[in-house]
Amino acid sequence: MADRKPLILVVDDNPVNIHVLAQALQAEYTVKIATDGLKAVELAHHPEKPDLILLDVMMPEMDGYEVCQRLKESKATKNIPIIFVTAKNEVGDEEHGFNLGAADYITKPFAIPIVRARVGNHIKLKLKTDLLESLASLDGLTGIYNRRRFDEALDKEWRRAARNQAPLSLIMADVDYFKLYNDLYGHGLGDECLQNMAALLTRTATRPGDLAARYGGEEFVILLPETSPSGASKLAERFRASVEALKRPHKDSSTSDYVTVSVGCATMIPLPGSDPAGLLQAADRLLYQAKHEGRNRVKYE
Ligand code: GH3
Ligand code: MG
Ligand code: MG
Repeated sequence: MADRKPLILVVDDNPVNIHVLAQALQAEYTVKIATDGLKAVELAHHPEKPDLILLDVMMPEMDGYEVCQRLKESKATKNIPIIFVTAKNEVGDEEHGFNLGAADYITKPFAIPIVRARVGNHIKLKLKTDLLESLASLDGLTGIYNRRRFDEALDKEWRRAARNQAPLSLIMADVDYFKLYNDLYGHGLGDECLQNMAALLTRTATRPGDLAARYGGEEFVILLPETSPSGASKLAERFRASVEALKRPHKDSSTSDYVTVSVGCATMIPLPGSDPAGLLQAADRLLYQAKHEGRNRVKYE
């Protein structure tokens, strides 16, 4: 992602304007074009989203204001910065565009260096915002997804599973006697141990839709869309076994000479309109049971 060129969508019903803007920008950016409003809205929703849109105001059928309004109303496109492109004699309407959420204005005829400079500034800001956004989803210690990202994914996958009446599985794992581990080996090695757990967890969740996250402290989760109880419990057992096979010494554990984890694994086919709290509770209850029955084991239904 870091080394791809930023993508700019140029929207104008006049091919000459499109040509001039594309010429000015194509050395530094990938340029996509649309010659009407509907096409612009469609291209903005393409999975490979534009980082910036240069949007002509005056267009037949759907004008630039309406395009802007639609993009700002849609969750998928509302964060794409929009620069309006207007003829000099239309500047009276600038306020209207800013009220609709535009980032900036450029007036025709174009002064190419100014176009490049303005576009450059907005792109820089957009990339910085994207970076912050992605960092906000990651756990600082382990580099895997954090609780915030997991909660979002759980919500989304729960609703998707309800729509498709498909099973959604959740693995919840907790390091055994980790307080004693910290007391004996210190927080530095404790942190390193958590990094080991995160790496093993990531290796366990291999399908594209799987999501591994640090749920908090020494607790980890894997969300497994479209996964049956038997599939999920196999993965849970694989994770537990991989932690045991790591043979990370833990002299004060009553369960083993090494660091181990207890794991709860639950599966549900969501009732339409329900919320995912039940799935979290079920996995948590099974995890508690695994602790209670002697730790270093997987409990599933
Ligand atoms: P159990 O087997 O019942 O899970 O016992 P436990 O000691 O693992 O459980 P408990 O919840 O009592 O203790 C969790 C400990 O995890 C407390 C804290 O010292 C440690 N811990 C939580 N977050 C971190 C962290 O980010 N780094 C380190 N080094 N330790 C952490
Ligand atoms: Mg613990
Ligand atoms: Mg705990």
